[in-house]
Amino acid sequence: MLHRYLLPAAACVAGLLSLAACDSGSKPTSGTPETLDADFDAYKQRFIDSLWYYNPEWASGAGYHRYDSVLVVPSAGRRQTEAAARARRRKEMQTYPVADLSVNNQTDYRLMQNYLASADFYADSLRDWQWNPANYNVGGAVAEILNGRYHPLDRRLRAISHKLIQVADYYEAAKQNLERPTREHTNLAIRQNQGGLAVFGPALLDSVAKSGLTAAEKQDLQGRIATTRLTMESYIRFLQQEVLPAGNFRSFRIGPALFNRKFALDIQSRYSADEVYRKALAHKQELLRDMKVRAARLYPKYVPNKPRPADSLAVVSAVIEALSARHATPAGFVGAVREQMPTLVRWVDDHQLLTQDPTKPLVVRETPLYMRGSGAGASVSAPGPYDKGADTYYNVEPLDGQPAAQAESYLREYNTYTLQILNIHEAIPGHYTQLVYANRSPSLIKSILGNGAMIEGWAVYAERMMLESGYGGNTDEMWLMWDKWNMRVTLNAILDHQVQAGNLTEDEAVRLLRQDGFQQEAEARNKWLRATLSQVQLSSYFTGYTEIYDLRQALRQQQGQAFDLKAFHEQFLSYGSAPVKYIGQMMLPAAAPAR
Ligand code: ZN
Ligand code: ZN
Repeated sequence: MLHRYLLPAAACVAGLLSLAACDSGSKPTSGTPETLDADFDAYKQRFIDSLWYYNPEWASGAGYHRYDSVLVVPSAGRRQTEAAARARRRKEMQTYPVADLSVNNQTDYRLMQNYLASADFYADSLRDWQWNPANYNVGGAVAEILNGRYHPLDRRLRAISHKLIQVADYYEAAKQNLERPTREHTNLAIRQNQGGLAVFGPALLDSVAKSGLTAAEKQDLQGRIATTRLTMESYIRFLQQEVLPAGNFRSFRIGPALFNRKFALDIQSRYSADEVYRKALAHKQELLRDMKVRAARLYPKYVPNKPRPADSLAVVSAVIEALSARHATPAGFVGAVREQMPTLVRWVDDHQLLTQDPTKPLVVRETPLYMRGSGAGASVSAPGPYDKGADTYYNVEPLDGQPAAQAESYLREYNTYTLQILNIHEAIPGHYTQLVYANRSPSLIKSILGNGAMIEGWAVYAERMMLESGYGGNTDEMWLMWDKWNMRVTLNAILDHQVQAGNLTEDEAVRLLRQDGFQQEAEARNKWLRATLSQVQLSSYFTGYTEIYDLRQALRQQQGQAFDLKAFHEQFLSYGSAPVKYIGQMMLPAAAPAR
């Protein structure tokens, strides 16, 4: 799981902006390839200017703070304005002969084109602005600005103050937009807006009191904070007391047609949704075979004095149960994560897996309240391309406030073995390391329109690569737990497809995750929740991982003895968060053309 500054197009909540349209129209001059690429580079900058103009919240998250004070009201008129702007961008792009651009610019061109198609799809076909009440929450945007260190506090508070003027209109438009929302997203919106309320609590008021704002500015801001609280509480009550009791819900399943299209736009894989689904089913069987072999070897050691069950799945299950009992305490969980970071840094250095940047700090913190409740236990919040000096946060949900049984179930899931794999995935050399590289990429487009499947795929690839390098001692214990872990992303893809494009029920899903995934009850229920709240995202891990592994194999074959793992990793990461199929095109031009 990863929370980025990058929001999917639909999450960039639109609203009415009473400024002149931001036009980036220009004509490329025909000429040499060099001038063509230079023209396109200039055009990319104007494209990004327009992107930020229309998506201020996304801009703030990416570290572009010009529009911090703007809150866009997500009205129908705003949606029309944005659609018209996208149509202008599309027309401008058609004037560039894409085949004549450099390979790097061709990739950027495809990403820009895909963004426009994707934004149209979210607005016109998926229409989640109608059925997802959790799209509306001002807590995150305000917290982002409040916690940012790029400007002095007074300036940030003035931006927040101006932003909050629009809060009543914002939530009014949200109510207008809602039409047969799903029950699941309504419940999510209630939880997340309740969390969002915490942003407008004593800490913010304290900052205002201590700031250098004038007495009149303070009074205005305090009034707006009070209004925001009332407005958010009223939205929550509206969802609780009107939307939920009315019971007029649509299904959370988007169905096969929307799923296939969303898969193509979100993932940009060389594989179709159905191809990935079939690959995941086959991979599941491979993992099960390996687990059975390793569990049979481990059984006498971990389950002594008990005859081995005849059912090989029961053997796997018994060994995993025994290994899962080794875990941190609820109060020590966040600390256990923190402690592992230096070990991972040293391992990557000692084994020459890639070059790390010691100047970029990773800060392990308890997940902020407004980000909790989506079913993800850990995530990374990274600085955007404009914020390169800002902290990267590793958000870990603390367990000491949870009921004992729930915490125990979670800790068994993130036991001594899998917690290490989690930390590889989220931090080093997974998401955190990849994002440090991505922010160094010369292409701002690739930093901004980053590809989720590449990002998740890299983190999953990193898990296997670390174990292959000997991390964890090459033991049956570690590999068995990796199998189980990798089974999770494999089942994520299967589940996503069967839940969103099929009709899998909660009971069937939980049975699948527990039987073939050997998951704890709490994790299986959480995963079901995520599978109802998101579409395609759960497939991104397995898809990206499979594509990266395939690419590495192809390069190994092509380069033979000359293949160098460190060089492969560094080159792969140097392109930024581009779709793996385009990176493959750049690294392996002859053998693997993207399609
Ligand atoms: Zn992840
Ligand atoms: Zn225990």
